[in-house]
Amino acid sequence: MQNIFDVIIIGSGIVGVSTAWHLRALGFAGTIAIVERDPSFSHASTSLSVAGIWQQFSLKENIQMSLYGAKFLKEFAKEQNVDLGFQQHGYLFLARQEGKDALSANVARQRKLKADIALLTPALLQQHFPWLATDDLAAGALGLSNEGWFDSHRLHSSMRSAVRDWDVTLIKGYVAEIDHSDTEIRSVMLDAGRRLKCGHLVNATGPNAGTFSRMARIRLPVEPRKRTVFVVHGGAALTEMPALVDPTGVYLRPEEPFHLCGVSPHMAEDQRCDADDFEPDHELFERIIKPALMARIPALKSLKPIRAWAGHYDYNSFDQTAVLGPHTRLANFYFANGFSGIGLQQGPAAGRGVAELILHGAYQTLDLSRLGFERIVEKQPLQEENLI
Ligand SMILES: Cc1cc2nc3c(=O)[nH]c(=O)nc-3n(C[C@H](O)[C@H](O)[C@H](O)COP(=O)(O)OP(=O)(O)OC[C@H]3O[C@@H](n4cnc5c(N)ncnc54)[C@H](O)[C@@H]3O)c2cc1C
Repeated sequence: MQNIFDVIIIGSGIVGVSTAWHLRALGFAGTIAIVERDPSFSHASTSLSVAGIWQQFSLKENIQMSLYGAKFLKEFAKEQNVDLGFQQHGYLFLARQEGKDALSANVARQRKLKADIALLTPALLQQHFPWLATDDLAAGALGLSNEGWFDSHRLHSSMRSAVRDWDVTLIKGYVAEIDHSDTEIRSVMLDAGRRLKCGHLVNATGPNAGTFSRMARIRLPVEPRKRTVFVVHGGAALTEMPALVDPTGVYLRPEEPFHLCGVSPHMAEDQRCDADDFEPDHELFERIIKPALMARIPALKSLKPIRAWAGHYDYNSFDQTAVLGPHTRLANFYFANGFSGIGLQQGPAAGRGVAELILHGAYQTLDLSRLGFERIVEKQPLQEENLI
């Protein structure tokens, strides 16, 4: 049994798999292992997300990573001959007067980076979406291409098959210990007692990333935060509907024959959750989601929840932006963490970025250096303004 690898990736969700995939696609010929504690992925964020992709962010890097994600989805589907069900119906972000300037400024930035976003007046919103209540709105922003939702399960399983075919070793096990010196990681110990030596170690452990990093005495401010998704019966068929993000933060998107909706808890209520707490927060529906949606879309006469599930955001409590790249002291320990609710669409770009760092020691495609761990050490937040 092989116990020494050039690269060991911990976590086989979208980010870990994408890192291995890009290493191989970029020509890395060394040995690669991915260690995963639960190959059923029953509680991985990758399995529990709502699989949306959009470019309507405030940070340049987030816009670019999401654009790369959309390009990757299309190319991967074509090359692998797999239908990823990419529904490019757009995201529609709505703003009241107080949010109008920020929305307009973000759209200008997104368009400059070649994101295909239209800024709509209330009159245009009414014209395009007659079912929308626009009285209190001052503007809306709609993605005209490259935004929507896709079959994330198929993407993830297809990428896993591809890396297996590319001679990446998939190991089932829980990494319980990291052995390191002052400057490098030497090996990881699995719960079953197997020790794996590594050249490079990639932390792709999702919401567990903070806990995992502590094994190497690293303080990474990433923790699990619970997010509940409701499957609802809308009582009306809304045609040509984009994913909608209300000024209240409530979102809704079609999932034939139903809709999916949810909301992030208000900051004061939003706390770290237990790693094994997947009990949906049912009360959010009646208290926040239903009133917001009934007011915004009066045609939804009988909004009834059919079922709900909860997943964990890999939440960066420092600035809600991904942490990517090597540790400042342990030079062969790489972060690919803290995506704070947008890691599925960023998975392709994050994997490519880490692969480029391992292969070339520098980014080659997108300059993601501002996402490095240095900003955490220097206490310089890089805040994204537009998260759901
Ligand atoms: C409700 C919800 C909705 C979301 N909606 C969207 C969306 O619309 N668009 C979007 O882009 N993103 C969305 N996200 C976020 C996205 O799902 C995550 O950011 C992304 O899936 C993170 O991927 P990952 O591979 O880093 O983590 P994960 O998918 O969680 O994978 C990490 C893996 O690491 C394994 N692991 C952890 N610790 C260890 C260890 N010590 N040893 C071995 N294995 C270990 C875990 O078992 C897990 O399988 C959503 C998330 C949630 C919860």
